[in-house]
Amino acid sequence: MLSTPHASLRAASRVVALGRPQRVPGAPVNVPVHLTSTYVSGGEVSYARVSNPTWEALEEVLASLEGTDEGMALAFASGLGAVAAVVALVPVGGVVVAPRHAYNGTSGLLAEREAAGALIVRRVGAEDTGGIVAACEGADLLLLESPTNPMMELTDVAAVVRGLDERWGTDRPVVACDNTFATPLLRRPLEQGADVVVHSATKYLAGHSDVLLGAVVVAGERTDLLERLHTHRTLHGAVPGPSEAWLVLRGVRTLHVRLERASATAALLVDRLTGHPAVERVRFPGFGAMLCLEVAGGQEAAERVCAATRLWTHSTSLGGVESQIERRRVHALEARTVPVNLLRLSVGVEDAEDLWEDLAQALAQTLEG
Ligand SMILES: *Cc1c(COP(=O)(O)O)cnc(C)c1O
Repeated sequence: MLSTPHASLRAASRVVALGRPQRVPGAPVNVPVHLTSTYVSGGEVSYARVSNPTWEALEEVLASLEGTDEGMALAFASGLGAVAAVVALVPVGGVVVAPRHAYNGTSGLLAEREAAGALIVRRVGAEDTGGIVAACEGADLLLLESPTNPMMELTDVAAVVRGLDERWGTDRPVVACDNTFATPLLRRPLEQGADVVVHSATKYLAGHSDVLLGAVVVAGERTDLLERLHTHRTLHGAVPGPSEAWLVLRGVRTLHVRLERASATAALLVDRLTGHPAVERVRFPGFGAMLCLEVAGGQEAAERVCAATRLWTHSTSLGGVESQIERRRVHALEARTVPVNLLRLSVGVEDAEDLWEDLAQALAQTLEG
């Protein structure tokens, strides 16, 4: 029922062209919001907790963007719902290896499961390829995140997977990578050997801070994992609303344009912030539109910056058209090794000079007193 995949198209065309109804005379150009809980008996699907055509349109786009086969993506109720489904692949008492500075919701979930006796967590430095491979002895799941949120560390996924194959062979853990920060336009972990990609589509994919949704995307040869993740979604009820899926699909249509603008502005800001007297350190992975600042003057100065911006919104979350700023250690689940003066900035699509001027005046206030 959906349009045929356009495998030969570049990503910027695929975000626009895929996930649409068949192009036949009189057909709508957009997939409708399929508001139904049940389907007439005799078809492939009988109940809407199993599948929904609006989800499928979004899933078609996400699978294509991550470079895997058709049908290998699943939409979830939220990014953390998708992470939880991946964690649920681990048998009771199994071992998960995860970066020390993973997204605080992911870290919180792993800690909660560990406290419940459900699994064992080994935490590693995201940039330490050898350390990650060594920690994976007997592990069931390696849950990567690159760049990490909020420390912006990068993992060389290809080198890690190579190391796992060499060292542990077929005993290696399932490799999952949270690709929320990079988006499939900037990084495609499946092409580097990961088995599963996780997304908080709430962020860049949706792009307008108006919806929560998550996704998993699975490597073509791992239909076994896809099946288990689908079963988890159905039996745990971790399903998105069709309206939410539609909103994400609508947001995805402009992902390339938003990301291009936001990335260009982020690079410009990094350039100006590096060496700024009110900034001790800039953390930027060299691509994308997320960056972090460690503000000179500690926690109090960092808090003053957040309070002083007028165009930047002081709020949590990221990836929206509006620029956001936040001190990460306000969150109870954030790792204690994240500096107290660290601000995470999500660069939006506003005028770059307006963003700079607003940030510059907020930083200047910390130097005054
Ligand atoms: C926000 C986020 C999540 C969780 O996604 P939700 O949609 O908020 O549930 C997971 N991973 C990363 C990297 C995130 O930034």
